[in-house]
Amino acid sequence: MCQPAPSSRMIAWAPGVMRSAISSRWRFMLAVLAHGWALERFEHVETVGFEYGQRHAVEMACRLRVLERMAGLRSDWTRRLGVDHVCDLAALHAVSPSALTRDTEIETPAGELPTTFVPGRNLVFLTFAAILAYQRGLGRLIGGMCETDYSGYPDCRDDTVKAMQLALNLGMDRRFAIETPLMWLDKAASWRLAETLGGSALVELIRVETHSCYQGDRSELHDWGYGCGACPACTLRMSGWHTYRRTSIS
Ligand SMILES: [Zn+2]
Repeated sequence: MCQPAPSSRMIAWAPGVMRSAISSRWRFMLAVLAHGWALERFEHVETVGFEYGQRHAVEMACRLRVLERMAGLRSDWTRRLGVDHVCDLAALHAVSPSALTRDTEIETPAGELPTTFVPGRNLVFLTFAAILAYQRGLGRLIGGMCETDYSGYPDCRDDTVKAMQLALNLGMDRRFAIETPLMWLDKAASWRLAETLGGSALVELIRVETHSCYQGDRSELHDWGYGCGACPACTLRMSGWHTYRRTSIS
């Protein structure tokens, strides 16, 4: 069931505002960036997080703190940030054997998807985000999916997202637009986008407060953020950060 998060901060939504959007938050660093991109462009932005029995609760624990701090970065973002929703998708955990939802080894067998793959996850998320948007009268769904340097998940691909947009529009008789501003950015470009949107304050917020590590490791703060430094998510984040820093200095 989807409902406003108890601790969410609600800002009055002016009915009739056309430029409105709902921002979904899957891979956390990318989701925060997509959220910043949405706040930059739309007068009213609501957010949604999905609880699906993730192996580590760190990601969900970080999100409200990040939302609050993002709203504090710019007065126009404070004004535009609307209600936050949390959807309980426990059924996804019940049916999925992924290493993201079970205490099993994280690995990428040759020629196969990583064991962290949760089949259909983004399809479910997009569907629930669209149901929420339908109820809330919002016209755009914004997600942090990326197929540039990624783990190969087929539900992160641009073709999948475009097909979902068509299916949702047909199935709900609406004209939703799904926006994926990070789809063609590598991780270094994503860090640069953070700098463009919110300056060094947003870069630092993402570095310190967001979480990518599949192991849920927040024991040590590296120059690229928290994480085990070895899992696929940490490897992508780390190499993107180092490229961003190297190209920023030169
Ligand atoms: Zn890690």
